[in-house]
Amino acid sequence: MAAVMHASPAPGGLSKNHRLVLEIVQEQGPGRHLAMSELFALARTRRPSIGFTTVYRALARLRDRGLVAEIAIPGTERAYYEAAGHPHAHFRCTACGRIDDVNYVIPDALAAQLAEAHGFAVERSDLSLHGRCADCR
Ligand SMILES: [Zn+2]
Ligand SMILES: [Zn+2]
Repeated sequence: MAAVMHASPAPGGLSKNHRLVLEIVQEQGPGRHLAMSELFALARTRRPSIGFTTVYRALARLRDRGLVAEIAIPGTERAYYEAAGHPHAHFRCTACGRIDDVNYVIPDALAAQLAEAHGFAVERSDLSLHGRCADCR
């Protein structure tokens, strides 16, 4: 299991608020995906004066810098956030809505093959599986 990363040095150039949002995301550990509203609630418990827009902008900045991954899963209306750095697929239960990590990435060779066949260049891939989780089956 990967270590919780809050001991790692914060990347330079981040404001206090941005560091706080990054810390909250990183402290969740693998397999936890936070929606914006949950993140905001957690940020509020640490810094009651922080505003929704600040958290929203911090997330966008952290995402653009590759520090936080934004996950958009078909069938969900909101984006979820998790620490960046370990690519994986996701499974979404259509009954209870839980989202789990799946230890899989589309192999480079397959992506290259598809790119060649279609004439496109792949920059990223998101894979999500949908169905019923072990509890809901
Ligand atoms: Zn379920
Ligand atoms: Zn994940």
